[in-house]
Amino acid sequence: MTLFKKKKKIDPAETTQMIRRVLSENFSDHKLSYAKAIAGSLMISGATVFVGYIMRDVINDIFYKQRADLIAYIAGSILLAFVLRGLGSYIQAVQLAKIGNNLAAIYQKRVFAHLMKLGLNFYNDHRSGHLAAQINQNIGGMRDLMNMTITSLARDAVMLVGLICIMVYQEPYLSLYSLLIAPPLILTVTYVSRRIRTVTREVVHLNSHLLGAMQETTQGIAIVKAFTMEDQLRGKINGLIELAETRSNKIASVSERVTPISEILAGIAIASVIAYAGYRAIAEQQPPGTMFAFITSMMLAYDPARRLARLQVSLERALVNARMIYEILDLQPAQSDRPDAVELKVQNGTVRFEDVQFAYHAQGTPEHQQVLKGVSFIAKAGETTAIVGASGAGKSTLIALIQRFYDVNDGRILIDDQDIAGVTVNSLRHSIAYVSQQPYLFEGTIADNIRYGRPDTTEEEIIEAAKLANAHEFIIRQPQGYDSPVGENGVTLSGGQRQRLSIARAIVRNAPILLLDEATSALDNDSEKRVQQALETIMKDRTTIVIAHRLSTVVSADKIIVMEAGNIVEEGRHADLISIENGIYARFYQLQSAPENETLIG
Ligand code: ADP
Repeated sequence: MTLFKKKKKIDPAETTQMIRRVLSENFSDHKLSYAKAIAGSLMISGATVFVGYIMRDVINDIFYKQRADLIAYIAGSILLAFVLRGLGSYIQAVQLAKIGNNLAAIYQKRVFAHLMKLGLNFYNDHRSGHLAAQINQNIGGMRDLMNMTITSLARDAVMLVGLICIMVYQEPYLSLYSLLIAPPLILTVTYVSRRIRTVTREVVHLNSHLLGAMQETTQGIAIVKAFTMEDQLRGKINGLIELAETRSNKIASVSERVTPISEILAGIAIASVIAYAGYRAIAEQQPPGTMFAFITSMMLAYDPARRLARLQVSLERALVNARMIYEILDLQPAQSDRPDAVELKVQNGTVRFEDVQFAYHAQGTPEHQQVLKGVSFIAKAGETTAIVGASGAGKSTLIALIQRFYDVNDGRILIDDQDIAGVTVNSLRHSIAYVSQQPYLFEGTIADNIRYGRPDTTEEEIIEAAKLANAHEFIIRQPQGYDSPVGENGVTLSGGQRQRLSIARAIVRNAPILLLDEATSALDNDSEKRVQQALETIMKDRTTIVIAHRLSTVVSADKIIVMEAGNIVEEGRHADLISIENGIYARFYQLQSAPENETLIG
């Protein structure tokens, strides 16, 4: 697992870079909304600063000089300031929520699109449940990141600067004195944010494990019950839940450390100013208005100052989320097209392997980890090539390589003399129809599931394909026929029916090359026959490479390739291979053709 690893040291410049990246990738799409949000923020800060300022007149004019004529004017202006604050808050909150929701949507789309580009290697290393949970948690963090930056800069920073100006204007020396609380506050915040970073990463990991484990448990509920794994799983999940709980508590106790310290510092500042002001008012008989305005501004400034101080701590959490999202988005898809990639042009569909070597992990792995050790063969156009061999021999790997799920380490795979490494992945996969051992049905209707083979398939073509795949009859018996939903909460189909649907999907794809992984699971005789017939229909006139498990498929194949531990050890037609004395295929055949063994090889 290389992704999401814990990073111990983070360069402070990287923090700014990350904020800049998130802003630069998103700011221009939302310029107008941000302008509105900032206008709202300015209204809030302007009104707040005004309230601080007007306090001098409240005290001096109303209470000290007793100017009754000014009461309505001053009270009215305070009311107006609060109305503006209310409107500003509304505008700001709505705009930020809109931007935030849109941002979450954009990142969800980006991540999903990127996930589909990543190679199978990535999925071998990551559990889908964890991945989904991580993405969810982290996208929330991205949204907070943008909103916090905007709110704090446009509202809190402006408000703070405004209020400090009022303070300095009223009492320059006292202002300087009250600013002395800034350095200890900054020190605390820096310490806390460093601690937060590590714990946040841990919590995201833990929660993803947790959600992933829950999802997997519900998916495999039949196995859980059959093996009475409930207690074991409950124990495991409870452990994770408790760990996540303590870690979340840790985040709270660490990040909240800023609060008592900033409260105490503010207390010291406000108390000393009041003491000094009281003393001066009594000793010097000055009108208290200026001092009152100063104290009000200072108290009003406390809120934005506290929020700004906490900003670094909250940003730190959001930044962890942003980094985790970018770790996915920055992963290079393994099988991306070469810059000079051309479209594959299939004439008749001959597939040729030339000394193909492959290992599942990076090149340079020791020889014993090589899964294919120099495989060469030709699957002739329009013929059926059956691959047989013991489990683990490399049959599925070979099929995966033709689709470029992975890139070969050495050697070449050619389709009609074009190296598949030099063609676009899209054109390659469009030339191939693949029927897997475990037919996978997606959320949607039966028709949708067939249409996935080719999006522009017409209704008639879907029905035609279903008929060829021996699926039409059972489809029309479903409550809503072709429009019956499958998958969760949908109709339940038997193994054989699912297989026939996936064959129909391959038929509509109408690709010249067919890759087939025959199902090993035994179907009942009738179902078996129907699936077999469907397969024969689709194999006709196509270059078919089949991982064969059924004797009938092997016997009727145009060519049989026998694999053993990553090598091709025998090759030929059934009749040739059974005549090899002590041959591997001949032994397989003898074992498998015993009447009690109906299915089969591999
Ligand atoms: P077969 O289809 O003949 O049973 P496979 O092609 O599935 O054989 O596997 C060949 C070898 O490659 C096995 O040793 C298997 O453990 C290994 N292998 C298969 N898939 C992966 C994978 N995703 N990552 C690492 N090793 C794999």
